[in-house]
Amino acid sequence: MYLELNQVKKSFGSGENKTEVLKGISCGIKKGDICVLLGPSGSGKSTLLNIIGGIENIDSGSIRIGDEQMESMNEKQLAQYRRKHLGYVFQAYNLIPNLTVKENIEVGAYLSKNPLELDGLLKTLGLWEHKDKIPNQLSGGQQQRTAIGRALIKNPDILLCDEPTGALDYQTSKEILQLIEDVNQKFGNTVILVTHNDAIQGMADQVIKLRDGQIRKCIYNDKKQAVAELEW
Ligand code: ADP
Ligand code: MG
Repeated sequence: MYLELNQVKKSFGSGENKTEVLKGISCGIKKGDICVLLGPSGSGKSTLLNIIGGIENIDSGSIRIGDEQMESMNEKQLAQYRRKHLGYVFQAYNLIPNLTVKENIEVGAYLSKNPLELDGLLKTLGLWEHKDKIPNQLSGGQQQRTAIGRALIKNPDILLCDEPTGALDYQTSKEILQLIEDVNQKFGNTVILVTHNDAIQGMADQVIKLRDGQIRKCIYNDKKQAVAELEW
């Protein structure tokens, strides 16, 4: 396993207002896999992603990534970990409004020692013809492609996607999920993807279902079945 979580617990608040949001999460994700994270709203999906992303710390348990132990990193090491290993894609694209597509993606290469080649990436993303436009000249799908480019340009080991198609129509969502699959095949990044979208048909190598802060089910989907056809 490339990424291994062991009994990860996380609460928010204190005293009477304390709520345990993750109640002992243990799972492993293989390098280069697409892991789809499902679960109702409030089940802890974003919190889990933020923990893996080094944005939230954990109360107890352990997380190993490659041969690094996350909970023993100090702030400086964590910052370096985020910079070196992680790309993040959200439902809101969070592009810089006065920069072009090309410039928005270039921002993601900042501080990276081995960025991907920009022109090639623009073509892979289907953005070559749009590279000099600013975000409000783009459709939602094109904006999300740009955000994916910004996350990808440093060629992160792990691409974290938190409901990346939440703001898109069905057809565009399918295209964005297809793009994430293409990127995974081309660059080999490990992808952790939160989605409610059933267009993930057969692209998941692993499916984890969360409920109320616990893993209800974890399936390695070797036969690449459509998620709807998996036996839960
Ligand atoms: P999901 O992404 O599955 O919808 P979240 O991980 O966002 O769920 O949230 C899980 C629970 O944790 C929710 O009840 C939410 O209100 C709570 N929560 C998330 N972040 C915080 C925070 N920073 N402070 C307090 N509670 C939080
Ligand atoms: Mg969420």
